Amino acid sequence: MTAKADHILLLAGTSEARQLARTLAETFPESRLTASFAGAVRDLPDLGVPTRVGGFGGTDGLLAFMRHEGITFIVDATHPFAAQMSHNAAEAAKMLKVPLVRLERPCWQPGEGDAWTNVLTMDDAARALPDGARAFLAIGRKEIERFTHRNDIFGLVRMIEPPKTRLPSAWELILSRPPASADEEVSLFLEKNITHVVTKNSGGSRSYAKIEAARVLKRPVIMIARPDLPEAETAPTNSALVDRLRQILARGS
Ligand code: NAP
Repeated sequence: MTAKADHILLLAGTSEARQLARTLAETFPESRLTASFAGAVRDLPDLGVPTRVGGFGGTDGLLAFMRHEGITFIVDATHPFAAQMSHNAAEAAKMLKVPLVRLERPCWQPGEGDAWTNVLTMDDAARALPDGARAFLAIGRKEIERFTHRNDIFGLVRMIEPPKTRLPSAWELILSRPPASADEEVSLFLEKNITHVVTKNSGGSRSYAKIEAARVLKRPVIMIARPDLPEAETAPTNSALVDRLRQILARGS
């Protein structure tokens, strides 16, 4: 049985985390649950559970928060590229001997006929684009500055919040979340005459439409590998994660 003193910290930032908040609240009604967002995006979803927003202040800040709130479990459902948060969480969990399970959705894999160039870094991705490319850049507002020196290419940049860096004047910026359907992406790529797609290997279904569209249009994809994440127990899906949490909470350690 779940102990009353349990307080789960859900580190959010993925669409899976939204679903997890509901599932955890339903599955462990006797536990406290607090969700946490970085706060980089203004229109945050209402998770329906107590939620805090903003950085903790590094590992020390996170440790202080966990001690103050009596956190007994961390669910790390951050984006796979939010490596700093995952490192801080793993370190804090280890120091306080609090169990942690990270949601690690499987990486996207190329399908038959896909032309992927796998690269390790944003800089490698920027270098991999040929002169004159018309690139769809789905890479995030912090990372876009690794590409803006490429005045010889056209960039179609899509992100949720505007970048801090000024984009080359010929580039276009779309401020939106990714569409659900590949058809929308296909239309966009055709309209803008996109020749290359640059993306982080985020995994999951929420932003997969661009990969499908690249496949349909036979456009090459420059796929940026995930950063190294700390050693931790992982679960590939929300249901696997909840099952694991159930086991750990039931045994009380
Ligand atoms: P990061 O480098 O891991 O995080 C930077 C700092 O943001 C962390 O050290 C932490 O600040 C704070 N932070 C991150 N997630 C938090 C959370 N859930 N609750 C409270 N604080 C949090 O990650 P990032 O800079 O946010 O993003 C890095 C990459 O991941 C980018 O490519 C971005 O596009 C992608 N991404 C991130 C998110 C997200 O929600 N973080 C969502 C989608 C995509 P303190 O050290 O002060 O605690």
